[in-house]
Amino acid sequence: MSSFAPDTIDCPSGSFIAGRFVRGGGDELPVERPSDGAVLGIFREASEADVDEAVRCAAETRRAERWGSGDPRRRGAVLRRWAELVERDREYLARLEALCSSRPVTEARQRDIPVVAELLRYYGECADKCPGEVLATSHDALNMVEHEAWGVVLAISPWNVPALLAAAKVAPALAAGNAVILKPSELTPLSMLRIAELGVEAGLPRGLFSVLVGRGPTTGRAAVRHPLVGYVSFTGSTATGAAIMSDAAHHGMKPVSMELGGKSPQVVFADAPDLEKVADLVALGVSRNAGQICFAGTRLIVEEAVAERFVGKVVERLRGVRPGPTWREETDLPPIISKRQADRIEALVESGRAGGAKVVAGGERFVLDGGQYFAPTVMAELGSDNPALREEIFGPVLGVQTFRGFDEAMRLADHPVYGLTASLYTRDIDKAIHGARAIEAGTIWINGYGRGADLGSPFGGFKQSGFGKDFGIDGFKKYRRSKSINVFLTEAEREAA
Ligand code: NAD
Repeated sequence: MSSFAPDTIDCPSGSFIAGRFVRGGGDELPVERPSDGAVLGIFREASEADVDEAVRCAAETRRAERWGSGDPRRRGAVLRRWAELVERDREYLARLEALCSSRPVTEARQRDIPVVAELLRYYGECADKCPGEVLATSHDALNMVEHEAWGVVLAISPWNVPALLAAAKVAPALAAGNAVILKPSELTPLSMLRIAELGVEAGLPRGLFSVLVGRGPTTGRAAVRHPLVGYVSFTGSTATGAAIMSDAAHHGMKPVSMELGGKSPQVVFADAPDLEKVADLVALGVSRNAGQICFAGTRLIVEEAVAERFVGKVVERLRGVRPGPTWREETDLPPIISKRQADRIEALVESGRAGGAKVVAGGERFVLDGGQYFAPTVMAELGSDNPALREEIFGPVLGVQTFRGFDEAMRLADHPVYGLTASLYTRDIDKAIHGARAIEAGTIWINGYGRGADLGSPFGGFKQSGFGKDFGIDGFKKYRRSKSINVFLTEAEREAA
């Protein structure tokens, strides 16, 4: 496998509604290639009428096909077949993903698209393996607890890892018996449109799963407010999550789950197993996807005794990353998704610098062949309100703090707002476990970064990083609600009831 020529890829150009591609009735929406700024195509947003058609069709198809009430093995079989088709088209889908996002094609090919297939398979296996229960009452009464789907689930996803993060919602929600409407980011709709088409090829009833292209405040908001949407599963920024929660509450008191922002610490003790390898992970944690990852390890908290030496190693690695377009095999620093986002990163770095921070490495933005880039940046001597410590910059910016002793490390690691992930590097098992328990975050890595045990590991934040996990069995169960059915078998029980 190799680099590819971006002009050779066939792109979809409309929303996928009721099992076919339709040009929306809303405003124009250009979709661009962040690697060179070229316009890939001009979509039209899905209008309120398009949203209504998609949601009604989803609800009706679900009912007519008995998708939630029929044999769950059918759901499992369709999802498993879908996984095979995603694998069949892996190279095309990886290229499509790399075109409109900042995912390097190597990552899309080796990780994102294979994980989409794995998610379809994993949740396909769950479909018929989470039965209800009968609770022991007496011989004369029964209490059955059944788990039924919500109906129509709305999934709203971000641009930073488009297909993988969308599939982590679509696969379990469908497996649990729901119909699904996906509103991907307006910047990166392409891969999921094609994946939806493959769903129909795999046997998914037409109309059960639609993908609506459009901006958040128009298409997204109309979908959140639609009366037939029963549940909203969101991944994106904390500010947008708050707006969606409020909308969902005021339009039907809909339940929501929220995968939100982060500002994850990488805590390095002087007794870490291998400082060379830890430096690799810390550099990767801030440069991968140019820092545009919710769990980017953007705060380095390092023990004073090794701080100078260790920061030197990280800087050396960051200076070696190769910027380039997503379609080039050698790229390890992809472009920033948009000019607007690059402006934001620059403004936050500048405000940190103006606030007295020392820029140890990087700090500049540059343009390469039409793409916007930000040099991997390390900032030290930071006041506690410096953006490099406080804000989710969503760019390759690492804030450095030093500590003496375990308690100070823990105090610095805890963020007042976010609690998504944290890494701890130490050979001391007591420090590692006590540290993992002390830090308020949904995922902790000890002597590692960025890997879950497998797809079975629930992922999601604490505090304003969100609630309601994606991945694992938790990420399946949230798409069902329990119903308690009580049966009274004798006259005496009926009278007592
Ligand atoms: P965003 O919040 O700007 O947008 C996310 C999605 O919400 C997009 O599809 C957008 O169109 C939609 N949206 C915006 N306003 C809306 C509204 N009023 N109603 C309905 N939909 C609306 O986020 P982004 O910039 O696309 O993604 C980056 C953010 O996502 C970062 O904060 C990152 O941390 C977060 N993220 C979190 C996780 C996680 O698992 N916790 C994973 C990836 C990204």
